[in-house]
Amino acid sequence: MPEDYYEVLGVPKGASQDEIKKAYRELALKFHPDRNKSKAAEEKFKKINEAYAVLGDEQKRKQYDSFGPEGFNQRFTQEDIFRNFNIEDVLKTMGIDFGFGSFGGNDVLNSMFGFNQRGNEGDVGSDILAKVDVSLLDASKGVDKDIYVRHVVRCEACEGSGAKPGSKIITCEKCNGKGQIATTMRSPFGIMQSISTCPKCGGEGKIPSAICRSCSGTGKMQTENKIKVSIPKGVDTGTRLRVRGMGDYGKSRQGDLYVDVNVLKDNTFKRNGSNIYIDFHVPFYVAALGGRVTIPTLTGEKEVTLSEGTQNESTITLKGEGMPRFNSSGSGDEIVNIIVEIPKHLTKEQREHLEKLAELDGNRRKKFGVF
Ligand SMILES: [Zn+2]
Ligand SMILES: [Zn+2]
Repeated sequence: MPEDYYEVLGVPKGASQDEIKKAYRELALKFHPDRNKSKAAEEKFKKINEAYAVLGDEQKRKQYDSFGPEGFNQRFTQEDIFRNFNIEDVLKTMGIDFGFGSFGGNDVLNSMFGFNQRGNEGDVGSDILAKVDVSLLDASKGVDKDIYVRHVVRCEACEGSGAKPGSKIITCEKCNGKGQIATTMRSPFGIMQSISTCPKCGGEGKIPSAICRSCSGTGKMQTENKIKVSIPKGVDTGTRLRVRGMGDYGKSRQGDLYVDVNVLKDNTFKRNGSNIYIDFHVPFYVAALGGRVTIPTLTGEKEVTLSEGTQNESTITLKGEGMPRFNSSGSGDEIVNIIVEIPKHLTKEQREHLEKLAELDGNRRKKFGVF
């Protein structure tokens, strides 16, 4: 028995479009794959979108109300349900845009729903994925990185036309120059005319009389390019950046390049989110007496006053000296873990001084059996 869409969105049967929209928005925010990465949330996100694709559309909703969940499910496929429903656009009109640094938008949604949300847009270049290593210091300041990617580019010889330079351009006989082919098809919502791009001319309506030899008439070529990627400060391992238009070339639209960031381990600092941690070694007499010490931070060395009697494994928090928060304001903290160093070997003179110190401690000295 399929779930009832009204129950999925938590609205009554007679709910107004405004109520339905409001309920959907709240749930979409809660279960969006950028916010909630569990498998259960993904399933839930699918369900609420399916429910909204139907209930948010008066025509589909009418069918749903008359057939009921079971009957509707038997009559309509997922593609019928999601026709003319683009999740990214729907979310954007509601002010939900996770934007830069978030998931690869459509790609993730497409794989989630198992079909292309955008439908037939002509020749769209594919998105491509690359990786980049960044040091912790670079990640704290932001950095421009050159990365090398293999991607599809426009053929230079024919400027993407696919025609042999100097050859004539003739009208495509398959579509008579219209670039599109119309077919009538029966859809569950009535008879629809479907217009598709002419496969022979790719929608151009014209074809060359001779094809370009460099690209065999495709107008495209594979090549390796150096691309400058600007890495914003605060990135962490797992951050995915989008560089628009740097994916594969397509005649209608260029794909995007996604870059997965890997922040390398640092010898001095450990990181946890926006906080950084450091072990700082202090000689025992400095810890006992207190004094000024110089502690490394991401932005250089910083003088800090140790109080008298600083204990081993005690911590000092340097506010705002951690990593900048990615896509947000402010920075985390630097947490300094004090390691008090006890010398393994003493010089004769040091030993004498320490013995004097022990003498001062009178009774305790006896108790601990110092001699
Ligand atoms: Zn060419
Ligand atoms: Zn054609």
